[in-house]
Amino acid sequence: MEALVLERKDELSLRDFPAIDQAEERLGPRDVRIRLHTVGICGSDVHYYTHGRIGPFVVKAPMILGHEASGTVIETGPEVTTLKPGDRVCMEPGIPDPNSRATRMGMYNIDPAVRFWATPPVHGILRPTCVHPEAFTFKLPDTVSFAEAAMVEPLAVGIHAATKARIRPGDTAVVLGAGPIGLVTALSALAGGCARVFVSDIAQPKLEIAAALSPAIIPINAEVEDLPRRVLAETDGWGAEIVFEATGSPRAAAGVFAPLAPGGCVVMIGGQPDPIAYDAGAAMVREARVENIFRYAHAFPRCVAMIASGAIDVKPLITRTFDFKDSVQAFRIAASAPPGDVKMQIVMPQQG
Ligand SMILES: [Zn+2]
Repeated sequence: MEALVLERKDELSLRDFPAIDQAEERLGPRDVRIRLHTVGICGSDVHYYTHGRIGPFVVKAPMILGHEASGTVIETGPEVTTLKPGDRVCMEPGIPDPNSRATRMGMYNIDPAVRFWATPPVHGILRPTCVHPEAFTFKLPDTVSFAEAAMVEPLAVGIHAATKARIRPGDTAVVLGAGPIGLVTALSALAGGCARVFVSDIAQPKLEIAAALSPAIIPINAEVEDLPRRVLAETDGWGAEIVFEATGSPRAAAGVFAPLAPGGCVVMIGGQPDPIAYDAGAAMVREARVENIFRYAHAFPRCVAMIASGAIDVKPLITRTFDFKDSVQAFRIAASAPPGDVKMQIVMPQQG
């Protein structure tokens, strides 16, 4: 079975990967076997490719990439009750230990033992089939395409962030960063009740995509305009009730409190490999609430429901689609970070 393998930093190949055929491919009683259909390229996949590591997770052996996926169930374990062969599904890529303390408390995403696709040493799913627990596999309504379903994983980050923010209808939000996560966060903030969302970035093409998503999204090019000043000017000097940090840039993160309203909430989404500056005084005088998120929990069914109903439309975020045979080239393009692209996806061959 051919897979997209990160051999080591900067080296990808499309090749047979026999090692995966062992334990990971054994179908447990509550597992399903899935033929992969569409896989999104995530910033983390690209980062492993270009840097060979993310924080403490280091690629020490060849690893299959990919964790944003949809597909079709082709086999079910004997105790599976909610899925059957032929069902179209999307999959939550992190599998926690069901008996861990974090899982029992409902915070399975921060279970230290979680096994997450394409996070060393766990393989991803840019391969023909995978085995996954029924509990983390979600059936798609007919109205949700495979491409949209492969957007559920990044959308879940935005939904989790919006949930943590505790949005009230009519709030004003700021999203720093118009990459895939920034834009799914903006869509989630609007779906969660925000009246308007200021989205800032320095890539004008990304801001144009952001602006086209909704008339309630106000794009701000942070290179030519002062974001806090604009937000304050448009809120009678009050500021935004919620600021989402979705750049992972220390400089952007250092300024999160400047556009924030008194009593407001900052949600830190972007990953920060190193300690960053934090304006404690600015946070203090606002009694700012600061939330941090790590991936998501309990968000996939909500995301599927919102895409199915039309409450959230992720289609404009999918800017390029590649065939699996061109996936090495797809990663090269993704690594060059084209300013006009948000989400690139790879479509897997369906025969066999
Ligand atoms: Zn992702």
